[in-house]
Amino acid sequence: MNSQRRQRCSIALSVVLAFSVLIGCKSKGAEASAAPFMSTVASAPPQATDNAPSPDKTDGFDGNRAFAHVAKQVGFGPHPSGSPAIVQVQDYLISALKSYGCLVETDAFSTDTPAGRLQMKNILVKIPGEKPEIILLGTHYDTKKMENFVGADDGGSSTAVMLELARLLCSQHGRYAVWIAFLDGEEAVQNWSETDGRFGSRQMAARLAASGDLKKIRAFLLADIVGGRTAQFPRESSSTPALIDLVWNTAARLGYSSIFLNESSEAQDDHDSFMKRGVPAVDVIGDFVHNGYWHTPQDALDKISPKTLAIVGHVFLESIKQLQTK
Ligand SMILES: [Zn+2]
Repeated sequence: MNSQRRQRCSIALSVVLAFSVLIGCKSKGAEASAAPFMSTVASAPPQATDNAPSPDKTDGFDGNRAFAHVAKQVGFGPHPSGSPAIVQVQDYLISALKSYGCLVETDAFSTDTPAGRLQMKNILVKIPGEKPEIILLGTHYDTKKMENFVGADDGGSSTAVMLELARLLCSQHGRYAVWIAFLDGEEAVQNWSETDGRFGSRQMAARLAASGDLKKIRAFLLADIVGGRTAQFPRESSSTPALIDLVWNTAARLGYSSIFLNESSEAQDDHDSFMKRGVPAVDVIGDFVHNGYWHTPQDALDKISPKTLAIVGHVFLESIKQLQTK
């Protein structure tokens, strides 16, 4: 949920030169469409449109359940990597996943960061398939270390979507295995770089490479910042083209073209750690540059829409179905 541009933005916002640098940190795709994004963000949808659709319209995905998972995470307060609060979040995730009958593995590790050595924990759900190949889903659940930052959208929303997907998928067996990664340490401890941020995904990709599982991953579908009431999803241009097409064509078929946009923007995120190792991946990430609350204390529960969560969950479920037929 970070990109170099986003990191630069957050630095910019913390100093007085916010406006000029904010312009400078827009990604190419977003710049080309600044006006439509801004006008959309300016006119928040009425409350009623935030209601989650009935789960029978979204393959069983329950936007209200997902919203409750965001609320629960926010309730733990700020939970950056290495904090006491993130241990509570980890326990919550593991107990929820086990209550759905999921097979859960954890990888506790410590890693050097610009703030010293930190304890982190990746959580991995493994749903077996008929064949050894794997469809990997992912989210990060840590929040950026900032005062009063609870990361309802940045950390909370995608983690909630993955919990609700786990509830539905852990009782199903498809052609391919489905693994769901709950990653620690996506956020940079100080400044986003190759060595600061994406700690959890770098750890998991390295572990799976060592075990031989990495080469079995047919696709990595990552979600990040996916719960905003005014969310829009440009195609993330560094992702694998065939997977971008698969997800965005699926969204169009389901009638979500006003949210899954036919324009591009670039973000650096946890998918990078897998793409660098040759894994095809796609990042479904909301337009954080224009949402008005990214990496600020305003990223709170009032920004989250059960309807958006349900739409993203529906798109993921249908995209997984597509991948299971290939
Ligand atoms: Zn972030």
